[in-house]
Amino acid sequence: MTEVIDGNAVAEDVRGDLEDGIETLADAGVRPGLATVLMSDDPASETYVSMKQRDCEEVGIEGIHVELDADAPAEDLYDTVADLNADPEVHGILVQMPLPDHVEDREVLRAIDPEKDVDGFHPENVGRLVAGEPRYRPCTPHGIQKLLDATGVETEGKDVTIVGRSNIVGKPLANLFFRKAHDGNATVTVCHSRTTDLEAKTRCADVVVAAAGVPEMIDGSMLTEETVVIDVGINRVDADNEKGYELVGDVDFESAKEKASAITPVPGGVGPMTRAMLLYNTVKAAGRQEGVAVDLP
Ligand code: NAD
Repeated sequence: MTEVIDGNAVAEDVRGDLEDGIETLADAGVRPGLATVLMSDDPASETYVSMKQRDCEEVGIEGIHVELDADAPAEDLYDTVADLNADPEVHGILVQMPLPDHVEDREVLRAIDPEKDVDGFHPENVGRLVAGEPRYRPCTPHGIQKLLDATGVETEGKDVTIVGRSNIVGKPLANLFFRKAHDGNATVTVCHSRTTDLEAKTRCADVVVAAAGVPEMIDGSMLTEETVVIDVGINRVDADNEKGYELVGDVDFESAKEKASAITPVPGGVGPMTRAMLLYNTVKAAGRQEGVAVDLP
């Protein structure tokens, strides 16, 4: 029987694990604060940010939200980031991507205080991750590690194939997987749009992570009965329903489920984990900045 990995349940456990940390901080008079910054009219970005704010409220993190007009000058965004960097009640800053074309993503990420960079995308934090000493693990890759751990899948000595080499998923995940650590120690193959014979790379892997943003590109024929499949993709495809669309992953769930040993669904797999790990990083950030020892699993 193929195991369908329940990301909502594991995310709930992660949130439960944060309770002690939030209590320890409260005993020291600290309430963790996460600032979200939205500079976009994109409805999907608006939804993501409001979900993050709701998550904060539910676990006892102070949510601070700043919204800028999508056509405001880039300077306004830098000023906002500078204010949040200086605000002692803000421990984590998340600037929702994508930004409008006239704002340079990379420059904005550089402007965030690395101690408050709970996404883990500031070059200093990327450097630490590559050096094997992450300060904050990027949320989606960290969530994937937690999902595997909760499913009893060890990566040590295993072959992992990641499909996608983005800065937010593929690259940081590869670094975490081959890191010399109990939840790393894997042999990692990173595939991308120029990879030839993708199927050969997925079929020889113990764990396949699909993060290409191409609807249902990986099907059961590309897997074996032992493969554990983590589907990161969130793709909107036309559908004959009220909304006119549905969300599908990068994996063809039905055929993959017939074959693989375990698989994450979309939605309800990696997505909830990404949100939970943002809360995790915010609690960690508050502990670091306030000098309070917070015990996080
Ligand atoms: P991206 O567009 O930045 O990168 C996609 C990567 O896939 C690129 O490296 C590209 O080379 C590779 N790729 C594209 N087509 C390919 C093909 N045919 N074969 C092999 N490789 C191919 O995407 P991203 O930001 O990493 O996101 C990937 C997907 O994951 C998207 O669907 C996104 O919505 C989703 N996502 C989900 C979460 C979550 O929390 N569940 C988080 C981040 C991203």
